[in-house]
Amino acid sequence: MLALTSGKRASNQVITKIARAFTKQTFPLTEEGESLKREVISVLEREDIAWLRRNMPQLPIVENPHPELFSELDFGHLGESEVMGHKLSVIQTHQGCYHNCVGFCSAGATGRITSKMPFMAYVKLARCKFRYDRRYAHICKNWYHHMHKMGLVPKNESALEKKIKSMKTVGEFLDFIIQVTRLSDIHPIADHLRLWQVNDEMEIADIPWWFVFKEHKRFLPVFFHSLQMEILTFRDNDPVHYYDPFFLSEDGSPADFGDAFRMVDTYVRPVFVSTSGWNSADIIAEQATRKVVDAMKGDKSSAGLRLSIKRYVSLCRTDPVEYLSNLKRILKVLWPLVETDILQLAFFHDPRIKGDKHWAEEIRKEIDDYAKREFGQSIAGFSKYSAVSRRRGLAYDPQYSEEDWDPDDKWGYEIRPDGSVTWRDESVLVGKETRGKIDYRFESPMAEPIITGVKLW
Ligand code: SF4
Repeated sequence: MLALTSGKRASNQVITKIARAFTKQTFPLTEEGESLKREVISVLEREDIAWLRRNMPQLPIVENPHPELFSELDFGHLGESEVMGHKLSVIQTHQGCYHNCVGFCSAGATGRITSKMPFMAYVKLARCKFRYDRRYAHICKNWYHHMHKMGLVPKNESALEKKIKSMKTVGEFLDFIIQVTRLSDIHPIADHLRLWQVNDEMEIADIPWWFVFKEHKRFLPVFFHSLQMEILTFRDNDPVHYYDPFFLSEDGSPADFGDAFRMVDTYVRPVFVSTSGWNSADIIAEQATRKVVDAMKGDKSSAGLRLSIKRYVSLCRTDPVEYLSNLKRILKVLWPLVETDILQLAFFHDPRIKGDKHWAEEIRKEIDDYAKREFGQSIAGFSKYSAVSRRRGLAYDPQYSEEDWDPDDKWGYEIRPDGSVTWRDESVLVGKETRGKIDYRFESPMAEPIITGVKLW
């Protein structure tokens, strides 16, 4: 990779590359941006390196993106606060996925990337998201202070824990929260809590925030942590494969997922990352993931990262030995997240297919042996078997691990790589009853997205 500081010739190449990328990028420009683009095109034609060198600080790069050169987002009839508020669920990096999990991908991802979000869209969306984040953090703070003032917060953690543990259903728990906190029905926090009330059969132990009691010693952070609202960057794509070839960093490398992640990941609405890894030739994805790991490590409020392992990905189908060694290499990159307790390894399999479970058991053992040898630690504490494709209801195998609701099944606004905004309802869970227990695993496809007619650019 060429660096601006690595000599005159290299710098000239990088500057020219950056200028050329600017003339090809696809996000709409303002008048000022259009005029700069015309000038840069003519400068490139006459190979006026001196001009480019002089005017380099005017050109948009990841480190200095110059949003003023680009048009504002148009939220149409929905409005910015509606889309970018607490109902925002996905800002999708791109569409298509080279893992090409034939027979498994219920998102219907095509095997090649068909569209990418321009990096500038991430810059613009980050600004809008941050405006709401600030308001939401303020709402949370006021709400918490109000609870304290009214004496509604138990004085210590164990009293609250005891009370919650004595409850029988999630409904009871939510009634308690809504009652003690006096939330109105349309309050964003109430909406957020409702996300958890997916199913009356869910047991109190499955409430997502129970685990934070183990993590924090004080009650206050427990509440703030629980009020975080996660954002996803994927639907039918693997986010770490993203890059924008027309928006470059100062060293000439393209903006990647690490850059996009750092734009929109915030404390109150962090980005949850799910990936099935990347092939060894994909150095952009590896570099991007290193940036994500750097941003997440040591940060317990981070939403975390899940590595999905399954034999349906194209590399495993064609070369299982290479797939295993690739996984080991990926685990090395992700390992710093283990200490922060925010890495999950999900070993997917389909119990309806003969041999699938056996494959998952074998590969888990291989990876566990490797982790013990390489890092002196087993993966047992942060890995689990997941029985179904990630977008179909419950990802859960009762034989191996505790229940885990599919985190990808989020309702809300989804911003697509082409700037269109769609809405997704909460999926309706449909289950079969077997031996007194309802099994939702295979009967609950995700709700289809609804077109809103809004296109942001
Ligand atoms: S990795 Fe995920 S999105 Fe990609 S093809 Fe496989 S299941 Fe679909």
